Amino acid sequence: MTDPVKLLLVKNLRVTPCRKKVLEIFARKNRALSHVEIENEINNEFDRVTLYRTLSTYTQTGVLHKVPNDTGSAKFALCKDHCDKHIHHDEHVHFKCVKCHTIKCINNVDVPEISLPKGYLIHSAGLIIEGICPLCNK
Ligand SMILES: [Zn+2]
Ligand SMILES: [Zn+2]
Ligand SMILES: [Zn+2]
Repeated sequence: MTDPVKLLLVKNLRVTPCRKKVLEIFARKNRALSHVEIENEINNEFDRVTLYRTLSTYTQTGVLHKVPNDTGSAKFALCKDHCDKHIHHDEHVHFKCVKCHTIKCINNVDVPEISLPKGYLIHSAGLIIEGICPLCNK
C-alpha cells in the first residue's frame, strides 16, 4: 500500500486530515468498508459531511470504487493504481465471506465478459462470490 500522502499527490488531490485518515483506515483494514464502518473508525474526528465529500471525491478520482453489494449499504474499496479520473478499471471479482462478513477485492480475477440480449446496455458489471475466506478456512 502506498503512503496516503503520496497517493494524494499522484492524484492531484490536496492533502486534508480527513482524506489522509480515510486512506489509512482502508490500508489498515484491507477490505471493503461501508460508510458507517468508516464513520465508526473515524470516531467523530470529522463530521458526516466532510466524510461524505471525501468519499465522493475518492470515487470520482479513482482512489476508491464502489463494491457491488446485494444487501445493506454501499461499500467502498481501494482502487489499484490504474484507475483514474475518467475511467475505473475495477471489473474484478469481489469475495464475500459468509463467516466473517468481510468483502475483499480479488484484483487479479476479472469479471467474465457478459453478453446480454439485444437492447440491453451494460454500464458496469459486478460479481460477488460468496463463500469462506482463507482466514476463516483454517
Ligand atoms: Zn477504480
Ligand atoms: Zn472470513
Ligand atoms: Zn474491488
